[in-house]
Amino acid sequence: MSQTPSDPKQYRRQLRAALGNHFLGQTLANFAQAYGKSRAAAFQGQDFSELAKAVVQAKDASLSRLMALYDEFRLHAEEAGAKVHLAATAGEANAIISRIAYQAGVKRIVKSKSMTAEETHLNDHLEAADLEVTETDLGEWIIQLRREGPSHMVLPAIHLSRGQVARLFSRVSGQAMDPDDIGGMVALARRELRRAFLEADMGVSGANFAIADTGTLGLVTNEGNARLVTTLPRVHVALVGLDKLLPDLNSALNILRVLPKNATGQNISSYVTWITGANECAAGQEGRKETHVVFLDNGRLALAKDPDFREALRCIRCGACANLCPIYDLVGGHNYGHVYIGAIGLILTYFYHGRRNARALVSNCLNCQACRAVCPAQIDLPRLIKKVHARIMDEEGTRPLKNQMLAKVLPNRRLFHQILRRAYLVQKPLAGSAPLLRHLPRFFDPAHGFRSLPVVAAKPLRARWKKLNQPKSKGRPTLKVALFGGCLVDFVYPEQGEAVAALLADRPIELSYPMEQTCCGLPAAMMAEEQTARIVARQNIRALDPAAHDYVLTLCASCASHIREGYPRLLAREKVWGPRAEQLASKIMDFSSFARQVLNIESQSALGPKTAYHAPCHLCRGLGVRQAPRQLIQAAGLDYAPTDNEEVCCGFGGSYSVDFPEISARVLERKLAEVEKSGAELLVTDCPGCVLQLRGGLDQRGSRVKVMHLAEALVRRLGKRT
Ligand code: SF4
Ligand code: SF4
Repeated sequence: MSQTPSDPKQYRRQLRAALGNHFLGQTLANFAQAYGKSRAAAFQGQDFSELAKAVVQAKDASLSRLMALYDEFRLHAEEAGAKVHLAATAGEANAIISRIAYQAGVKRIVKSKSMTAEETHLNDHLEAADLEVTETDLGEWIIQLRREGPSHMVLPAIHLSRGQVARLFSRVSGQAMDPDDIGGMVALARRELRRAFLEADMGVSGANFAIADTGTLGLVTNEGNARLVTTLPRVHVALVGLDKLLPDLNSALNILRVLPKNATGQNISSYVTWITGANECAAGQEGRKETHVVFLDNGRLALAKDPDFREALRCIRCGACANLCPIYDLVGGHNYGHVYIGAIGLILTYFYHGRRNARALVSNCLNCQACRAVCPAQIDLPRLIKKVHARIMDEEGTRPLKNQMLAKVLPNRRLFHQILRRAYLVQKPLAGSAPLLRHLPRFFDPAHGFRSLPVVAAKPLRARWKKLNQPKSKGRPTLKVALFGGCLVDFVYPEQGEAVAALLADRPIELSYPMEQTCCGLPAAMMAEEQTARIVARQNIRALDPAAHDYVLTLCASCASHIREGYPRLLAREKVWGPRAEQLASKIMDFSSFARQVLNIESQSALGPKTAYHAPCHLCRGLGVRQAPRQLIQAAGLDYAPTDNEEVCCGFGGSYSVDFPEISARVLERKLAEVEKSGAELLVTDCPGCVLQLRGGLDQRGSRVKVMHLAEALVRRLGKRT
């Protein structure tokens, strides 16, 4: 199987090579499109969050008493004639299974798909013990013949073309296979696999559920091979993670309501098999099958007790967190996981396959929240990925230089702001009078040239504020609003802040710009620098004084989302700051929601330019704000042109686009192609980070599409002066 480099540079080279595989990128992108549609159809008329709640309840209730459930399962399964084993490690599980095979005189084994067996590298172990093992799931058989691991938890051979499969099958059969003759290839697989089923002495399966109160295993499959694996041979061994234990059938059914829908967009999979104990078997001793259930711990019991990470064990292995991940959709599972792939793979790799294999992987996340939104177990995957990253850095006792610098500079607001202001002086000679820096100096990695960079403003918003905020409305203000700029609005795009001031100028609103505010701290959280993130959170709470304001308004969806969700979590254990963080979280508001709810913008009749919209990840998924910006676009009289994948990430991700420019560029390219296809003249969004990425990318493409923050577009449409 492919190795996961621990060295970030080597990992980046591996990713670059994967990006060169256009078939892979296209296949995964097509799959993501088709999956999104069938998933939506499967859940139509159902409340996903209610179904997910039931999954969480079932899993959480089990995780708090795994060993009690194990004892209960063992009692009932053994009463029904099965033998139950507990393996502390992957090696122990493999040894138990090969011992069972040896004692039963087994020579040939058939296997159905099991991620737990992939986790223990069971096939390698059994083959080393001179046993013949045949994978019988079609995708697993294909990758077994290629001697590689799965690239997806549900669709293990998704990375291969039929041409590649035809070449492989030609080698296996010794006759040339036609890639267009799918029926011929299926017939070959059926012939080979039937022979293996009939000759096998032992079947090895996994299980989706282990029901404690009856000692029953539950298997959810589509190909029917698992039924043959578990029924035909005289010995059956199920290798099951301890996390699959559930108290009763009802809990399993709650998961089953979601699993096929979320995995493949099916209402129900083709087969759901329930096995209790040792069943009749003509080939077995005394007409009974020899049945073993091997439970695997391999860190699960410790994980279940870890307050920071236990939710990762709720995973039901639906694979959805890979399906809609913009990075997985470009580079595939062999480059985005170790054995377990996708978002959950980034986390589990650390716990099941060690720090070395997880080290480089965990920094490859855009924090776009797409995985979290589709996870039926409601695992906060992006947050846990950052937490694993932080833990790895803590364990290694070293931090990259950029982290060390950030931790030094960010807590010191004056120093940080001085550096930002000086950046203008450094950039000015390079940019001249142009608003964008099109060519980077030579010492920059050319991979960063995929977008033009904005020039830092000569005068930041804070220096313009006094002149700006002249209240024009008569009478006493009815609302007090503090504006939180965030680094980009304050120092790079002050015109966005000016636009808000113009929109509010004739309203009975007192708008202030607290000068002690600083970076929201999201960049620190993204770099797994929690301590720094905490320091700046406290500084901002003090500066923004939520008790004294009705709203704290921000133009940056990422800042808003971080303040609303991140601050209370970061400061939860602090007596003074915890409640204040909650208070600020309740007052922070993104621009679109504020404009819809508070400003109540009247509809404009004249039709403006054709306008596409990009939904920032932290707005649509982080804050759950979906309709407000689209309603605003229409109220402003802009000619709204919806595009495909409006809610897919633009590839910015703050420091991510600096660390992984090739991936950021490719994610952006897909987004901009959709925008250009729509024929829009204007692209609006409500996050300055997205403005930076989209504007810079369009500029490099020589596009005529203009990019604006929604606040600027509104000011123009409403004829307000900034
Ligand atoms: S983490 Fe969630 S989305 Fe990903 S495989 Fe597990 S249950 Fe599915
Ligand atoms: S947050 Fe986005 S980039 Fe990160 S793992 Fe989830 S889907 Fe992938």
